[in-house]
Amino acid sequence: MKQQPEMPTSNIWEKKHTNFECKLSGLKISKKQYFLGASADGVISCNCCGQGTLEIKCPHKHKDKTSIEAAKQDPTFCLDTNLHLKNNHKYYTQVQFQMLVYDTDYCDFVVMTSPNNVILLAIVRICRDHEFCNHLISKCTYFVKELLIPELLTRKLLHDYKVANTSVNDVTKVKYCLCEEPEYGKMIFCDGDSCDIGWFHYQCVNIVRKPRGKWLCPKCKN
Ligand SMILES: [Zn+2]
Ligand SMILES: [Zn+2]
Ligand SMILES: [Zn+2]
Repeated sequence: MKQQPEMPTSNIWEKKHTNFECKLSGLKISKKQYFLGASADGVISCNCCGQGTLEIKCPHKHKDKTSIEAAKQDPTFCLDTNLHLKNNHKYYTQVQFQMLVYDTDYCDFVVMTSPNNVILLAIVRICRDHEFCNHLISKCTYFVKELLIPELLTRKLLHDYKVANTSVNDVTKVKYCLCEEPEYGKMIFCDGDSCDIGWFHYQCVNIVRKPRGKWLCPKCKN
């Protein structure tokens, strides 16, 4: 992973790379893993480096700082104080995934800030991490083959979800206890002959353990 210092200019690539080109990019579908897609901010190319992806971040909450200041002050910032993209940050996963889908070997990851209205670009070149990408592929493959496709074919989760929601709605219609809430947790039944409530929540009647013998609710006791 190489990194360049922050430069207050936006045509830095043209100065550093020969025949530099940048094209906007829409959604790209992977040629090898048909179920994977990504959309980088751009596809860049030059004679010296070949084709790469471009990802630009403009973190609003750090817009008035340099990226180094942001890295020093905010431990959750994507770059560390050496302006490397942290490899446990979600943006690392994002750019690796893009390289995988676009089949490129590098990504220029750009963090743009504008302290005192001067545009600063922290440009971090990130190489494809093949081991990381293989791990991503196996996780995505598992998700698609074992979870997504079976669900599309059987609608089992959707069915279970509907069933679960129906029973929740049925329960909510019935109110119990002094608090007039639905059933939840441990409940106790009042042995009073003419109890008009019946079931009570343990905590509403200050019960921790099931009492021995008959139990009367506060209303029936009085
Ligand atoms: Zn180049
Ligand atoms: Zn209650
Ligand atoms: Zn009672």
